[in-house]
Amino acid sequence: MTRPPVTHTLDADGLGWITFDDPAARANVMTPEALAALRAAVAALAAQPVKAVVVASAKDRIFMAGADLKWMAQMPDPATASAISREGQFVFQQLADFPVPVVCALHGAAAGGGFELALACHWRIASDAPATQIGLPETAVGAIPGWGGGVRLPRLVGAAAALEHVLKARLLSAAEAKAAGFVDEVVPATELKTRARAVALQLAASGLPVRPAPAQPDTAWFAELRRATAAKTRGQVPAMLRIIEVVASGAGRPLNEALAIEADIFGDVMTGEVCRNMIHAFFLRDTAKKRTLNGWFAPAAAANSRPVGKVGVVGAGVMGSGIAQWCAARGLQVVMRDVQPAAVERGLGVIRGLFDEAVKRRLCSAADAAAGLSRVGTTTGWKGFADCDLVIEAIVENVAAKQQLFTELAAVVRPDALLASNTSALPIEELAGHVPNPGRTLGLHFFNPVSRMALVELIVGRHTSAPAAEAALAFTRILGKSPVVCRSSPGFLVTRVLFFYLNEACRLWEEGVPTDVIDAALHDWGWPMGPMRLIDEVGVDVTDFIFGEMAHYFPGRVSRTSICARLLAAGLKGRKNGASSGFYAYMGREETLNPAVATLAPPAHARGDKMEPSDIVDRLMGVMIAEARRCLEEGVIKSPDDVDFALLSGAGFPSFRGGLMKYANRSV
Ligand code: NAD
Repeated sequence: MTRPPVTHTLDADGLGWITFDDPAARANVMTPEALAALRAAVAALAAQPVKAVVVASAKDRIFMAGADLKWMAQMPDPATASAISREGQFVFQQLADFPVPVVCALHGAAAGGGFELALACHWRIASDAPATQIGLPETAVGAIPGWGGGVRLPRLVGAAAALEHVLKARLLSAAEAKAAGFVDEVVPATELKTRARAVALQLAASGLPVRPAPAQPDTAWFAELRRATAAKTRGQVPAMLRIIEVVASGAGRPLNEALAIEADIFGDVMTGEVCRNMIHAFFLRDTAKKRTLNGWFAPAAAANSRPVGKVGVVGAGVMGSGIAQWCAARGLQVVMRDVQPAAVERGLGVIRGLFDEAVKRRLCSAADAAAGLSRVGTTTGWKGFADCDLVIEAIVENVAAKQQLFTELAAVVRPDALLASNTSALPIEELAGHVPNPGRTLGLHFFNPVSRMALVELIVGRHTSAPAAEAALAFTRILGKSPVVCRSSPGFLVTRVLFFYLNEACRLWEEGVPTDVIDAALHDWGWPMGPMRLIDEVGVDVTDFIFGEMAHYFPGRVSRTSICARLLAAGLKGRKNGASSGFYAYMGREETLNPAVATLAPPAHARGDKMEPSDIVDRLMGVMIAEARRCLEEGVIKSPDDVDFALLSGAGFPSFRGGLMKYANRSV
């Protein structure tokens, strides 16, 4: 018989140990088996003469990562979900009611159910290891805590601090958790278990700690939080408001009543469509991390790919500098080239700024940032390119310029160096088909800003060899990015579907639907911004250029709108590179409709603002969905899940809708 995921022992000092260590998995997650094993372990220790109990994990980097989301996603109805909530609450309550002290030793992730379990213990000690991450992040997947976290955390640190934490859904380091009162002590990882033992025996002798009740906010405070949260989330993620309801209704009630409220609301939220969609999006992200080239190449064909250690980046503009910085931050040697010395200097300034920002956001130490910066060399010639394993070009989006560059590059780099383009839309064959050894050519399409966007489209061209694609895939893994694989074709997936959608938005505008009406409809639907606002962000020039490319490659299917060209002719470039007006005019953070655009409107504003938001959404999303379906039919991308993942992580598709194809195939 295999060992259960939770075991117990009683040591010679009379200390009971409950240990989480699922033999079947690298991580501990709360499955039905783990919950049953915990229940059995607690009952078994309760029947023995224990002085105190320590709860710990035997895993390297995980205490308990929370409830198994596969289990949670399968709850058939609210009643079942509520029953599971009550079962977990019951088992954790057994720990809280244990007649002797229960100390929790946290090392590694203690998230969601893992931290709820810790909250039921009488004393919490965390290791100072970076892997120790503590908190209740359930709202990030549209869920709420259901095993007492929504009741115990407010009673420990106050409802205001508890809700602030749960609504942010960000895990805390051990030091932050201590400062917030989530844990009682932080110790070096090597001393965690010794300290837990000592505290447990000490509490056994002295009695349980007495904790003063924290101050609680009044009903007006809860009402204001509800109002602000509804405004911020536009009511689209029910979990955000329902967790406020759990905390507000539970305040001042006996524990068992508050827990019953939590279980009821948990049942509703977990089985709601939004929660299911957000869990779907979570699994898509997880799958992307484990991406393979199965279906693109025979597995054996990919063997012998060469790892990337040094990267050449050509073009020190927005994308080139972003890619160079990210590669250097991930430990790779980088050489960045631009034709103009001023552009090299500007690019280097951007890289410095990105490292400074990473230090400010505590993503890396100042020493790591300095080391990263020192890994970036620059040139206006070709110095430093001869020993690159991979070169990524990010120069202007112009076929002739890119073709000439690939020819020059091929003469400078090793014959086996990978040659990648960051082009947004050009088929790779057009750029690289004529270099020697074209098997090493492919696309690596990063998204802007590189430091924040997880997606990379890995573009496999007609010539791309399996080892080249495999090496590029391994490279995206070194970078910690999430790839989707696309067949080379104009615009690949994201540019194609996005610019068909933007072109259709411009058509609506040309038919007379005002800018703010179009944007409000799509923003309210869930996009981070409406399409006209997005055009300003991308740049009116870039948008118009890509409209041209789409019209060139898909003649007959795209009828190119003209408003962007007219904006450009009037000097309105959008918001980037210092430009401050497009469909909107920008003054710092302020944005207002740009009155200059009204004069460019067609004379017959037939529709005015009478078009219903839902009709605007149906028309624009309909175009995007139709184009995504064509991409699937043409084999540009392999599966609807890949489409969903790419738009979620590369275009800001709202995760509460699950994904583009999930939305398209919903049953209404
Ligand atoms: P950019 O205009 O900011 O930078 C291009 C740089 O390339 C300039 O500094 C220019 O001096 C330099 N350059 C031109 N010819 C060169 C050559 N032969 N050798 C070296 N340097 C040369 O452009 P960008 O926005 O960074 O875009 C670069 C590429 O990335 C384009 O293909 C674009 O379509 C693609 N892309 C852009 C974005 C985006 O949001 N900006 C997103 C994804 C992909």
